[in-house]
This record gives sequence, C-alpha cells and structure tokens, in this order.
Amino acid sequence: MRLILLGPPGAGKGTQAQRLVEKYGIVQLSTGDMLRAAVAAGTPVGIQAREIMARGELVPDAVVVAIIADRIEQPDARKGFILDGFPRTEAQAEALGKLLHQKGLDLDAVIELKVDESILLHRVERRVAEMTARGEAVRADDNAESLKKRLDAYRAQTAPLVHFYAGKGMLRTVDGMEPIDDVTSAIGRILAEAAFRPKAAGSAAKRGQAAAKTKSGAKAKSKAKLASKTKKAAKKAPKKAVKKVTRKGVSKTAKKTPKKVSKKKPAPRGKSKSRRAGKKVRRARKARK
Ligand code: ADP
Repeated sequence: MRLILLGPPGAGKGTQAQRLVEKYGIVQLSTGDMLRAAVAAGTPVGIQAREIMARGELVPDAVVVAIIADRIEQPDARKGFILDGFPRTEAQAEALGKLLHQKGLDLDAVIELKVDESILLHRVERRVAEMTARGEAVRADDNAESLKKRLDAYRAQTAPLVHFYAGKGMLRTVDGMEPIDDVTSAIGRILAEAAFRPKAAGSAAKRGQAAAKTKSGAKAKSKAKLASKTKKAAKKAPKKAVKKVTRKGVSKTAKKTPKKVSKKKPAPRGKSKSRRAGKKVRRARKARK
C-alpha cells in the first residue's frame, strides 16, 4: 500500500497517517518530521532548512526529493508507505513519479483531505495548546504569522497537485471537516476499493500479475483442459435423475437420458428400430399399470 495524503497544514494528515500505520503496518514518511529531525541534529540539510521552515516557506525541491529517495529505499518502507507532506510541488510530484517508476512501484491512491481554511488556524492553535500541555517543544512555525505563509505556499504550490493527480485519475477526496473517526473510515473505504481496482495498463502491478500468470500458466492450462473434459462428460451424461416406479411400488432414482438433438435427417419412420423398441417398452409399461 503506497499512498499520498494531500491537504493544507492542519488538515489532519498526520493524525490519519498514524492510524493508517497501525492498521496497515506501513510507514509514515513525513518530510516535515524528517526535516525537523535534521534541524534538531544539526545536519547540513537541517542547517539549510532551519530558517526556511521557521518562516513557513518551502525547502528546495532537490533537498526533499533526495530525502525521500533515500527513505523509500529503507527496508521498513518495502511493505508500503504513506507520504505525508510530500510531494508539495509539481516538480516533487514529477520526481516521485520517476523514482517509483524506476523501482517498478505504483501509488495506490492520492487522498486529499479537504477542509475549510477558516478552521485551520483554530486547529493549529489547539495543537500548540496540546503540545504545551504535554510539555513538548512547540514547532517554530506553529504561530499565526508562519501559518499564514504556510497556507500561502499550500495554495500556490501544493493545491495544483489536486489537478495533477486528478488528471491521472488517482485523486480521491475526503471531507476533512468530519470527525476524525469518520475521516478514517472514509479513507479505509477508498483504500479497500483501491486494493481491488485493476491498475492502469503497463503499471507495475499489472506487470507483476502478468509474471504470476506466466508462472502458473501450466497450471491454468491443465485446469482449463480438465474443465472442458468435465463439460464434455456432462453433455454425455444423463442430466436428470427421475423417479422410477418399480413393481414393488418403491421409488428408486434412475437416470433419464436427455433427448439427443440430431442434425442428421431423421430416418424414415417405419424403418427405425429404436422407435419400434420404444413402442414395445411403452406398451409393456401400460400393461403393467
Ligand atoms: P504542515 O503541513 O503542518 O505545514 P509539515 O510538518 O508537513 O507541516 O512541514 C513543515 C515545514 O517543513 C513546511 O512548512 C516546509 O518548510 C517544510 N517541508 C515539509 N515538507 C516539505 C516538502 N515536501 N517540500 C518543501 N518543504 C517541505
């Protein structure tokens, strides 16, 4: 399972991603978290990103693409992943497409969490209050000024991805204003559907299926042979079991041979041996009654 969660800051991507991690046993790849870890560790990437992030602007595409390229290589991402906060620009989306293609992987879904902008500030303020209450360090960009910038960046650079993925037929939208559990259920339904949907032609999944078919080709062939044999046998075999009345009056099941439909010209009436035999039998039956 590989999916993208798309939505503005405060839409609930992180909350839903955590639930998906538990449900599907896949990893959450949040570029925001990774960048914050880099900032905390003081790595070169962290040093580069620190100020940009605090201002609420976007870190350069090349930096985040490199982080993601490295991260999806890790063994824990093999089973699948949820991209949270990535891609955030069309260039990142293109780069992700290339990366996945090189690895023969596909995305199962791109889920947009749609929310009214008016509630975002409230949600972020609540997050700040909750983090403070837990004694956690508040994010440098969780303030009204940076949030405004983050929203501007979302509108200008990330929102166009909705059309980008809609154009590829991959976008599914969920109402992010609903209660958390309802949003989770809606996402669950989308993913259940995605799991059974045939992938686009030439997709990695299709390639995989084709390989599986080739492997089981011999098996399938012999199965088909068997099926056709059974069909032929069924044609020859009597179709109905009917009750046969015996002298003792006990009913026994007997097989009734279905009428044969012959394309050949029927034999002249009088000359048919089987017809005469049939008449005899009928007469005998009548006499018995
Ligand atoms: P939110 O979605 O709540 O704004 P994130 O934790 O996803 O927060 O991101 C925090 C910040 O990290 C962003 O404002 C941006 O500076 C940086 N960032 C995260 N992901 C990306 C990305 N894909 N491209 C560029 N910058 C990013």
